[in-house]
Amino acid sequence: MKGLAAISRDSSPSVSDGTSLLTERTVLRTLGSDMPPRAIVMDGSNVARQLLDQCAERVTEIIARTKVQPCLATVLVGDDPASVTYTRMKRNRCEAIGLRSVKVELPATATTGQVTARIAALAADSTVHGILLQHPVPGHIDERAAFEAIPASKDVDGVTLTSFAATSFGLAHVGYGSCTPAGIMRLLTAYNVEIAGKHAVVIGRSPILGRPLAMMLLVKDATVTICHSKTRYLAEVVMQADIVIAAVGKARFVQGSWIKADSVVVDAGYNPGNVGDVDYDSAVERASMITPVPGGVGPMTIAVLIDHTVTAAATQMRVTL
Ligand code: NAP
Repeated sequence: MKGLAAISRDSSPSVSDGTSLLTERTVLRTLGSDMPPRAIVMDGSNVARQLLDQCAERVTEIIARTKVQPCLATVLVGDDPASVTYTRMKRNRCEAIGLRSVKVELPATATTGQVTARIAALAADSTVHGILLQHPVPGHIDERAAFEAIPASKDVDGVTLTSFAATSFGLAHVGYGSCTPAGIMRLLTAYNVEIAGKHAVVIGRSPILGRPLAMMLLVKDATVTICHSKTRYLAEVVMQADIVIAAVGKARFVQGSWIKADSVVVDAGYNPGNVGDVDYDSAVERASMITPVPGGVGPMTIAVLIDHTVTAAATQMRVTL
């Protein structure tokens, strides 16, 4: 029982031993231990930090071999405060690990043609390895046309049709997966969550989150149910899930009473006041693992964006790491 004593509801389990922690936890439950029957908290900040450390090492190696600094270009149209903040955070994080960042800012009045022309110029620039168009763009712009101006080789945010198709077919060598779903998959992997054969219920079908995530889970052999605003009997559907992913955009929407005992709960939501889409306090009592908000999915998203940019740079400069 020595190893078991180390597990508490507040401990951050080592990423490498997620399976053994789960097993020990199940045994404790079965034995009627007085250990609180609460979920293991999946520490996205910790996993993201490990990924960023690896990225920093890869950047150093790329620069040593090519004398070229890998570069992410961010394109911001207009001055929406949240978008300004998000792009600044992404650039700061890039620079912190040794990437170069290029900032392209266009006025809110820019036309679709002007936006696609700037993206095409970045696509043709061999010193730029990844391109991120901050979205949503102002309503008069054809967002799909703007996304499609990004070549798949530089689509590190995974927004193009080619990247989505590649994600759906499990073709890792074409394009990049959308960052938040890819971050969720990495988190599940880091905690040794078994996916093959499990029933995954994804609540939300947005192009950047629910939909690509469902495809990624399918590629990993989950049985996937995708729910949305027209889904009937949502609570009953969620109750059948081994893995629940909440990507709804509604604070504390998913109730603990919907969660099957010992399922894995991933909360992708991020609502005002740092609140997720899952009612954490009730879900943590039933799940075997759960992501917190903040500190769960959020940090993974930006770490994956940087990881994709480093990979894009290495691929474009033909550096094998
Ligand atoms: P979105 O585009 O607004 O999509 C929300 C989805 O939820 C839609 O598919 C919608 O269905 C569905 N939905 C809405 N009400 C529902 C209901 N009552 N029952 C079932 N499904 C319902 O949002 P998103 O961009 O995917 O984002 C989802 C959440 O993730 C938000 O909280 C957002 O802030 C967060 N997020 C976090 C990160 C991160 O890095 N942590 C990144 C992106 C997003 P319909 O398709 O039928 O409308």
